[in-house]
Amino acid sequence: MKRKANVHIIATGGTIAGRADSAAATVGYKAGELTVEQLIASVPGLDKLANLSGEQLCNIDSKDMQETIWLQLARRVETAAERNDVDGIVITHGTDTLEETAYFLKLTVKTDKPIVLTGAMRPATAISADGPMNIWQSVQVAADASAKGRGVLVVMNGQINGAETVTKVNVNALEAFQSPGSGPAGVIVDENIFWLTQSIADVVSANKLYFSIKNLTQLPKVIIIYGYVGGDDGLFVKAALQDGARGLVYAACGNGSVPEKLADMLEETSASGVPVVIATRCGGGIVVLSEKMTAINGFIASGPLNPQKAKILLQLALTKTNNVKEIQKLF
Ligand code: ASP
Repeated sequence: MKRKANVHIIATGGTIAGRADSAAATVGYKAGELTVEQLIASVPGLDKLANLSGEQLCNIDSKDMQETIWLQLARRVETAAERNDVDGIVITHGTDTLEETAYFLKLTVKTDKPIVLTGAMRPATAISADGPMNIWQSVQVAADASAKGRGVLVVMNGQINGAETVTKVNVNALEAFQSPGSGPAGVIVDENIFWLTQSIADVVSANKLYFSIKNLTQLPKVIIIYGYVGGDDGLFVKAALQDGARGLVYAACGNGSVPEKLADMLEETSASGVPVVIATRCGGGIVVLSEKMTAINGFIASGPLNPQKAKILLQLALTKTNNVKEIQKLF
């Protein structure tokens, strides 16, 4: 008989642990109320899937997630992953910033063991709450040997998405998470896990990026500036630099389209040693800048990373170097 896997659950809060006054309420609830023990107890028969252990890191709405908590979380995940009696790790998290935490862990935790993040769109008190099934399927994936070497995964609503591609695309629907362009890494139907993509271990080297956070107490400050008609003519760039930003991400309207009124200032910023990454607000596609342009203005293309993930990669890159060419290679 197959050995029952050991899965460690780290709870951080979110709607999945949220409580509302009415069973019909899906907004206006309080996130981060149930404990990890209550979450485990809310899923009937979960102990049949795996031997479970749990810890509570924090119990917050993920809009209030902080980089200092990320550093603690990454260390706890790494410690759990090093244990011989842990086969996989599940992290419960609010959905608002779940994709950012997933990507941060992807870049900072070195392990082959499955790390799965999950959340819920309906609070635990709601009729047809989605949390218990999401926890069930996350434990199922974390316990499954086929999930090894696939990096950090997000399991929600029967789908498995990779940390680098996943993003929250809907503020109400149960299918709130998608990987635009690439689609999900896998789907779960009852006891079956169907992988639709290769494992990360088999794919490009960019997926193997790793940054040690051992000696870090904080991350370098990187600010995102959003592009729109009539947008920033330098006010926010100036403010960011005054506030000590070590890097900037510009969420352009399209593929690298920096408005003329901002281009000079961003070029000067880059030349002064504060790298500027150009991402897009489009929600899909791969940002590519021409070599000629990059040589003139020093901008770094975000590639497939959305602005919030480009920010994380730039922050971690800045812990090693602020050489623009070196950083571009990491993107
Ligand atoms: N505001 C909540 C959070 O991110 C939303 C959710 O979990 O779905 O914690």
